[in-house]
Amino acid sequence: SPKVGVLALQGDFREHAAVLRSLGADVTLVRRPEELEAVDGLVIPGGESSVMDKLSRAFGLAEPLKEAIGAGLPVYGTCAGLIMLADSIVDGIRGQQSLGGLDVAVRRNAFGSQGDSFETDLDIPALGGHPLHAVFIRAPIVESVGARATSLAALTDGRVVAVEQGNLLGTSFHPEVTGDTRFHEYFLDKVRAA
Ligand code: GLN
Repeated sequence: SPKVGVLALQGDFREHAAVLRSLGADVTLVRRPEELEAVDGLVIPGGESSVMDKLSRAFGLAEPLKEAIGAGLPVYGTCAGLIMLADSIVDGIRGQQSLGGLDVAVRRNAFGSQGDSFETDLDIPALGGHPLHAVFIRAPIVESVGARATSLAALTDGRVVAVEQGNLLGTSFHPEVTGDTRFHEYFLDKVRAA
């Protein structure tokens, strides 16, 4: 079974770990560089990207993460995790850095604050089948998609909320809280193929 890490510095890493385990993955919570070295794929959870950024640098994980992404490690970022994977953050708080890798620019909290969280159904051709119920919690939007990245899903107004680029996958929303495991399965296929 694929060895998959979940970055466990902050955020809803337990929910991701539970979904991945239910799909048969061998899950490691990643807090140290040695733990990162031992996995074949990594999920970066939702949470607060500015905190995750600070902790990843304080724990000496930011550089190993950037190297792993550059070397082709499959990485799936949800919400704050998508922000961490974006090459550019339009409105990062002072000094906020991302790991980068995805050729996109994201805007944080693009729908407002916690009270403006919402749910909607998305057509996602790459996943096939019925629409995916998507939960947005203080979610970012993908404001521009560069030439190397591909949009996988957009809202009815055209704003992009899921992207893919080689072994990298990012969603504005939280598939780990809905019981629909298709995004995690899609990611595990990438891990197995890598
Ligand atoms: N607003 C958060 C951030 O900017 C992301 C919220 C989430 O991950 N649910 O990091």
